[in-house]
Amino acid sequence: MPELKEVKGIGPKSLSLLNKINIYTIEDLVTHYPFRYEILQRNNINEIADGEKIITDGKVESVPILMRFKAGLNKMNFRLVTPSGVVGVSIFNRAFLKSQLIVGTGITVIGKLDKTKNVITASDIKMGVLTNKVKIEPVYHCTSGLTNKNLSTYINMALLMYGKEIPDYIPEEYREKYNFLNKKTALNIIHNPSTNEKLKEVTIRLKYEELFEFMFKINYLKEQNKKEQNGLQRNIDKKELKKFIDKIPFKLTKDQQQACNEIISDLESPSRMNRLLQGDVGSGKTIVAFIAMFANYLSNYQSALMAPTEILAMQHYLNLKKFLNNTKVKVELLTGSMSKKDKLAIYKGLKDGSINIVIGTHALIQDEVEYNNLGLVITDEQHRFGVHQRANLQNKGIKPDVLYMSATPIPRTYALTIFGDMDVSTIKERPAGRQKIATYVKKNSEIKEVLEMMYSDLKQQHQVYVIAPLIEENENSDLTNVYKLKDQMKLAFKDLYKIDIVHGKMATGAKDIIMEQFKNNEVQILISTTVVEVGVDVPNATTMVIFDADRFGLSTLHQLRGRVGRGTSKSQCILISDSDAERLKIMEKEDDGFVISEEDFKLRGHGDLFGTKQSGDMAFKIANIKSDYKILLQAKKDSREFLLNKDPKDKELKNKLIASIMKVN
Ligand code: ADP
Ligand code: MG
Repeated sequence: MPELKEVKGIGPKSLSLLNKINIYTIEDLVTHYPFRYEILQRNNINEIADGEKIITDGKVESVPILMRFKAGLNKMNFRLVTPSGVVGVSIFNRAFLKSQLIVGTGITVIGKLDKTKNVITASDIKMGVLTNKVKIEPVYHCTSGLTNKNLSTYINMALLMYGKEIPDYIPEEYREKYNFLNKKTALNIIHNPSTNEKLKEVTIRLKYEELFEFMFKINYLKEQNKKEQNGLQRNIDKKELKKFIDKIPFKLTKDQQQACNEIISDLESPSRMNRLLQGDVGSGKTIVAFIAMFANYLSNYQSALMAPTEILAMQHYLNLKKFLNNTKVKVELLTGSMSKKDKLAIYKGLKDGSINIVIGTHALIQDEVEYNNLGLVITDEQHRFGVHQRANLQNKGIKPDVLYMSATPIPRTYALTIFGDMDVSTIKERPAGRQKIATYVKKNSEIKEVLEMMYSDLKQQHQVYVIAPLIEENENSDLTNVYKLKDQMKLAFKDLYKIDIVHGKMATGAKDIIMEQFKNNEVQILISTTVVEVGVDVPNATTMVIFDADRFGLSTLHQLRGRVGRGTSKSQCILISDSDAERLKIMEKEDDGFVISEEDFKLRGHGDLFGTKQSGDMAFKIANIKSDYKILLQAKKDSREFLLNKDPKDKELKNKLIASIMKVN
């Protein structure tokens, strides 16, 4: 495929704007699907009530009269002959359109009708009439400097120049079976639909394609696992294991015990473990992972625990070291930001087997890392890793057992399909002594009250998290940013408390220092973006304040809220937003992650079930695993058939799909 900049009209400036919305290749561009369509249907003026929205087309009948006001404002008036009579049109601040509005020109006007004056106050004027009575216009996610129209132009140019080269992930035999249009035509229609029927038809086709590609990979992994039934045989010294468990300063919940039993029996069985451990935030998955790793150690194998962020890896590392006090287990941390020298030392220890347990980030699956006898791999917050990484982890070492942990509970039927290649353990019950986190939805105008709520908690020596969606001021957005919040908090709390910031763009070292200070209560108010979302554990933090809460899915809010309520003290969560109150109120009532995830499912389809951008393969562009569940099931069936077919028509595609699974991204 040629590069994006080869598309006519895309220069360096538009290229960087496209990159901003995650469009890097021609394929990204043409699969930047409209998130909705504007249906322009001609109304009959006589049927529209006073003050209502109206869309009509017609011919310009009089030369527009332009009036200019101070401050650069302007207004234009002209008459329009429509199929249902003549009407006046006035529009503000479109003086630039005057030269195009020549008498006799066909245009489409969208606006509000004033019946008594027989005038449409237009909000938009489009050139051209509505040929089919109905016009369907794509609406894209844009960014400042890159308009809907720009996007539409680039997409159509890319399709014109390179449409035939865009890869199609539906094998020929299935394209024929379902009478699907070819990829180029389908893309042309999704971006320029002429009728609703056509649009529906290609939408299904493109959804099927996306789900086919995804399910093919899952099916492939499943088959791979089946082939590798010969897992590790081990003997676990149960007495030693019990000693370790007895030293844990709390009693395991029934669900934790059950999960441990399932894992231990997987470890002992000769077939390979491939298990998902799902449990709500704070349900205590970590200790289950630690027990599994200790059991694995007792059978003389190495373990690797992979976390999605360095903060989390560090926390697991420090935590595990405490539990392993007085044992001979050697545990090390390996992250991307470590010095070359430190990394080499760890590589050596992993290769010669002197390190028993390693905790880290993606650094654990780099090619340089060789293990002596890796027997167990655990990934925390599984949904953040894509299929590629799953495959890669499994390829390290000698067919290790694999455990995935996820805090985003997925309704069982869906879990069984999309994690079709795994067994599932679930922790539902929460550790004893936990109180419900009191949750309040507040408006921005109630900020004073919020500050008081924070203060009353801070006075009791507790700590506070404050979350904002943005890092710094952004001219295109009036969302709250962490730096501004810090100034505000400073103003409110003076020097009473230490306030600091962490966010995703900070250097890892700096981030870790501040997290450590927060953990040690040297910082009382921690302002951050959602980097704290996953896993961070500071029991003394008991208040969570989230600005612009409407920006987040309920599951994300629930995850964030799960950062407090970790000790036995009463905790609170305050959601600040001027809109979307009804959805947010669900958080006031509900504290069960499974129920919240179901609600999110209902409201936003898969919503942010799979996290946001980082979610790799789970972030579907057009399909929705809930509302397109039927297509998903069909794609699952077909892709399996295709996988098992030794002589498919489209061999090339099959090889390509398999190659893409094995590639690290
Ligand atoms: P998550 O499932 O979100 O990863 P964690 O494993 O971080 O949750 O556990 C949250 C907190 O609960 C930790 O401080 C942990 O030590 C504590 N915890 C875990 N299990 C229990 C238990 N059975 N009883 C009391 N506290 C527990
Ligand atoms: Mg966790």
